[in-house]
Amino acid sequence: MRTTSFRIPRRPRLLTAMLAASALALTACGGAGAGADGGSDRPVVLTTFTVLQDIAQNVAGEHLTVESITKAGAEIHGYEPTPGDIKNAAKADLILDNGLNLEAWFAKFVQGLDAKHVEVSAGVEPIDIAADAYAGKPNPHAWMSPANVQKYADNMANAFAELDPQNADAYRANAAAYKTELQKVQDELTTGLAKLPRNHRALVTCEGAFSYLTRDAGLTEKYIWPVNAEQQATPQQITSAIEFVRANRVPAVFCESTVSHAPMEQVAAASGAELAGVLYVDSLSEADGPVPTYLDLIRHDTETILAGLAGNSPGAK
Ligand SMILES: [Zn+2]
Repeated sequence: MRTTSFRIPRRPRLLTAMLAASALALTACGGAGAGADGGSDRPVVLTTFTVLQDIAQNVAGEHLTVESITKAGAEIHGYEPTPGDIKNAAKADLILDNGLNLEAWFAKFVQGLDAKHVEVSAGVEPIDIAADAYAGKPNPHAWMSPANVQKYADNMANAFAELDPQNADAYRANAAAYKTELQKVQDELTTGLAKLPRNHRALVTCEGAFSYLTRDAGLTEKYIWPVNAEQQATPQQITSAIEFVRANRVPAVFCESTVSHAPMEQVAAASGAELAGVLYVDSLSEADGPVPTYLDLIRHDTETILAGLAGNSPGAK
């Protein structure tokens, strides 16, 4: 099955559903070349979210078409795949997921698909979630440590080499070059946040998505809820965050781009801390937004945290 050289226009819902139903039947003649970019012969790699897409594109270079199942700004944990997603996945040659229980929908999504799937966090040392019903489960946000993403890049290079052995050397070289960039942002993160005064070294966020970053930067982590599966912050969670901010005289708190800011606005109002900006974790921004790439995401979050926490709180020396 080859696509034509122009994009398929948006279809009415019923037709989309019908196409999805017939998508599996088309897989047999699928395989390399059915890229949504139109008629290219490159194998198609799908990632579950935009952060992985960008990392994978750096490793793939020009040899693979890399697309994300979820779009910029999407909620990734509890995403509900559409019939169009299933149709696209039927054309993929390889599907990359984060693993560590990030994508609650993934196992069901790949049932019945021919494409191989690879978990890119394999080999990363997980940090366990400390709180609530999730205690003891791995925190899925391992990419918030660029050091871990070096492992992601190696896993991707190996998966791409297996998919497309002809270009194996290119994938390994691309991964090596990207790992140099990853080391650079890792150093920026640790040296940047090391400038924070001792009494300002606490990161308070909405979701507990920063365990890997706070470990790398030597910050204390506090969050309202542990994982995005929560529909709503409980009053106890909000009270606990307010008490933490007050007790530690934390000057600034933060919330992530893909979740509701209302609970953190409540924490800020009640504690007197400043709601000091949006952090990006589970999604990149659109291309013209503040974090079009993963390296931008780490730099943006480092700068936002530094600017917020370097501010003078009432209790600061
Ligand atoms: Zn998350």
